[in-house]
Amino acid sequence: MTTVHEQTKSLVEKDRENIWHHISAYNEKNPPMVIEKGEGAWITDHKGDRYLDGMAGLWAVNVGYGREEMAQAAYEQMKKLAYVPMTQSHGPAIELAEKINELLGADYKIFYSNSGSDANEVAFKLARQYHQQNGEPSRYKFISRYRAYHGSSMGALAATGQALRKYKYEPLAPGFLHIAPPDNYRRPAGQSVEEYNIQRAQEFEEKIIWEQKETIAGIIMEPLITGGGILIPHPIYVEKVQEICKRHGVLLIIDEVICGFGRTGKMFGHQHFNCKPDIITMAKGLTSAYLPLSITAIRKEIYDKFDTGEDNSHFRHVNTFGGNPAACALALKNIEILEREHLVDRSAELGDRLLKELEVLKDHPYVGDIRGLGFLMGIELVEDKETKEPATNARMAKIIGDCKANGLIVGRNGDTVAGFNNILALSPPLSCTDEDFDFIVAVLKKVFGENE
Ligand code: PMP
Repeated sequence: MTTVHEQTKSLVEKDRENIWHHISAYNEKNPPMVIEKGEGAWITDHKGDRYLDGMAGLWAVNVGYGREEMAQAAYEQMKKLAYVPMTQSHGPAIELAEKINELLGADYKIFYSNSGSDANEVAFKLARQYHQQNGEPSRYKFISRYRAYHGSSMGALAATGQALRKYKYEPLAPGFLHIAPPDNYRRPAGQSVEEYNIQRAQEFEEKIIWEQKETIAGIIMEPLITGGGILIPHPIYVEKVQEICKRHGVLLIIDEVICGFGRTGKMFGHQHFNCKPDIITMAKGLTSAYLPLSITAIRKEIYDKFDTGEDNSHFRHVNTFGGNPAACALALKNIEILEREHLVDRSAELGDRLLKELEVLKDHPYVGDIRGLGFLMGIELVEDKETKEPATNARMAKIIGDCKANGLIVGRNGDTVAGFNNILALSPPLSCTDEDFDFIVAVLKKVFGENE
């Protein structure tokens, strides 16, 4: 009989032999964790060590792990009806679409897919076809921001503004252009945040004009840049971009893959601003990652150009798994939990408290900036507070390693090529208890205290 220790050891070995892990090379000294269990904000690995998951997986498990009623919702639906292609329809998909419109407070058509990347691909195809059928077939280009991440497929990666993620995979889908994002911490000295944000928004307009506006199909952006280092714009930025889009006939696509479903303290990130996007993409927090599901929501006026009754005017896009009944039933349950437990307000409250609690870290020699919106926070580490030289890899690894050694998983974000991979990210489940919250604060204070 094998001992428990031998069984778990062989799990790690089998993992090394058989699994090709996402994004990272296998690291003998620091192999991937084999996670066995999740409960609330906590995960337990195969050795029985518990960690507070300060990244909610990949910014996704908004309602926390181990929810019996989520499993039950999927189970009941699978038993009743496991699958319907979205060429047809079913109750949970219909109910969920209606619920999403209620949350958006507007009339959108809901297109189902499986992942954030899928949802963005749908947005790009739809936008191009819309312009074709709206008498402007020359509009095919998209503008996004450097540092933003929009997905891993050839179009979504083309929209992504992080060079190292594209290196060795190019050429990607053509027609994607980039401009710099607002990075308030690094704005020019003497310029107000508002002035700087207006100027940065204006760069979209300059790009549109230089490229010839009749060629521009859309702008895609997150309400705030998440993976690229938690870059939170001044509200005037988003409002100005929207105004520029309207003036030039360019569709505004808002990527809510991370920001949606309460992460920023509102149900959707764009609801912080006076903004009505033409297209909205969602994934991750839609099901709290219990099952894959994503949505591309399209303003009804855009849909009208596809519903003309003419041959070939429909959207010729299909995917096998999108709108899976169990995933839709689970998304409905997930939203019910977010609402019942007031987790969106909780996200805002915990985020504000975290910013206050960590205010003291601003005096730390390596903390350049602390910023957040809702329960989403970035701590930008620098070598020198005057020059703002980004923290070295060694310093980032030490702090993240020390957090882990103390039971807290935190993320590392930014952009590697530009040298700004120096932002420590926190995006814990919104269901964190007060004790969980105190634990996060205690670990961060301890780790920074030990790394002065
Ligand atoms: N958009 C954003 C803003 C994301 O953060 C991500 C994933 N991290 C995606 C799109 C792509 O989502 P997925 O990994 O589900 O394809």
